[in-house]
Amino acid sequence: MAIPFHKEIRIGAYLLKQKMLGRKRYPLVLMLEPLFRCNLACVGCGKIDYPDAILNRRMSAQECWDAAEECGAPMVAIPGGEPLIHKEIGEIVAGLVARKKFVSLCTNALLLEKKLHLFKPSPYLFFSVHLDGLRDHHDKAVSQKGVFDKAVKAIKAAQDAGFAVNVNATIFDGHSAEDIAAFLDYAKEMNVGVSISPGYAYERAPDQEHFLNRKKTKELFRKVFELGKGKRWKFMHSTSFLDFLAGNQEYECTPWGMPARNIFGWQKPCYLLGEGYTKTFKELMETTDWNSYGTGKYEKCANCMAHCGYEPTAADAAFNNPLKALWVSLRGVRTSGPMAPEIGLDKQRPAQYVFSSQVQMKLSEMRKAEAEERAKNTADAA
Ligand code: SF4
Ligand code: SF4
Repeated sequence: MAIPFHKEIRIGAYLLKQKMLGRKRYPLVLMLEPLFRCNLACVGCGKIDYPDAILNRRMSAQECWDAAEECGAPMVAIPGGEPLIHKEIGEIVAGLVARKKFVSLCTNALLLEKKLHLFKPSPYLFFSVHLDGLRDHHDKAVSQKGVFDKAVKAIKAAQDAGFAVNVNATIFDGHSAEDIAAFLDYAKEMNVGVSISPGYAYERAPDQEHFLNRKKTKELFRKVFELGKGKRWKFMHSTSFLDFLAGNQEYECTPWGMPARNIFGWQKPCYLLGEGYTKTFKELMETTDWNSYGTGKYEKCANCMAHCGYEPTAADAAFNNPLKALWVSLRGVRTSGPMAPEIGLDKQRPAQYVFSSQVQMKLSEMRKAEAEERAKNTADAA
C-alpha cells in the first residue's frame, strides 16, 4: 500500500494552521510509549534499562487516547519497548485511527505475524519495522540470530494482508556506507519506505563505543547518498532532513516537535532525553526551559542528529522556504563541497545525571498508589 497523498495534505494543513495561529512551538508527531518492556535487548538501546516493576507498567488505552488528544499532533508514533507485547495494542491503535491520527506502529516484528489479526488495514496505519541493516548487521545489532529473517517474513505477511509497511534503521559507527546502500537497495526491492537516523548516544545503552559523532555522521551520509544517486530510494523523511544529515544545513533541534508520553508522564525535553516529567502536555510546553537543550547548549545533546529532534526543524525550514526544499528534491542532496558550519560546543552546560532519581521517584509513587489502593479495598470490604 502506498503512503496516501492525503497524509501530506493533512500535515501541510496542520502546519499552515499553526503558522496562521502564530504558534511558536507545536508538536508534529506524538511519540507514545505505552510500555518499556521488550522481547529483545539490543546493545544500542537506551529504553529498556529499568527495574521489572517499571517494565511491567503499561499505559491504559484510555491514557493513550487522552495523550493523543491533549497533544493534538496529526501523527502518533508508537515505539517502545515492543508495543505488540501490550495486551490492548489493537484497541489503542483502533482508537487512534478512529480519531484520524496517522499511526506509525514501531515494532521489531517478532510478534507481528501472530498479531496481525488485531489490526485492520487503513490509510491511517503504518507498521514501522525495526531493521538496522541487512541480515548479519541487523542480527548483530539486536544481539540475536534469525531476527532479520523473521522481520522480513513478517513484513511480507503484513504487505500481503494489505498493510502499509516501512522500516526504521538506526545507524551506528562502523556501519559502512556500502552496506547501508545495499540495505537501502534491499528496502526498495521489498517496496518499503525507510526512516533512517544516527543512533542517539543513550547514557544507559550497553554499548557506548559505537555512537556516531556529528562529523562522522555527516561524512557517512554523504558517502551513502553519493552511492544512491539515481537510485530513487524511498525515504520517509523530508529532503531537508536528508540534506541536514549530509552536513549541508545548520539546524538547531526542535525538541517539542516530537514530544514523548510514557508511563512516567510527558518527558522533558524530548523522546531521547528524560530529564524530568510533567503530568500534562500543557505543563510540558510551558515549564520546560527549552533554551537549555540542544547541540551547543547541553553536553548530552552534543552529538545528536536524530530525526525526532531535527525532522521537525527540517519540516519547518521546508515550509518557510519551499523553493529551496524543491531545489534539493530536484537536484538531489549535495555530497561534496563545504559543509555548513558546525555548532560550537564551548558554551554547553555539563550533563546532569538524573536517571536513578527519576526511577526512584516513580517507584515510590507506584508503591504509594498501591498502598492506597490496598487500604481502599480493605475499607470497602469492612
Ligand atoms: S527492539 Fe527497540 S526497544 Fe527493543 S531492545 Fe531493541 S531497540 Fe530497544
Ligand atoms: S539535541 Fe534536541 S533532540 Fe537531541 S537529545 Fe538534545 S534536546 Fe533532544
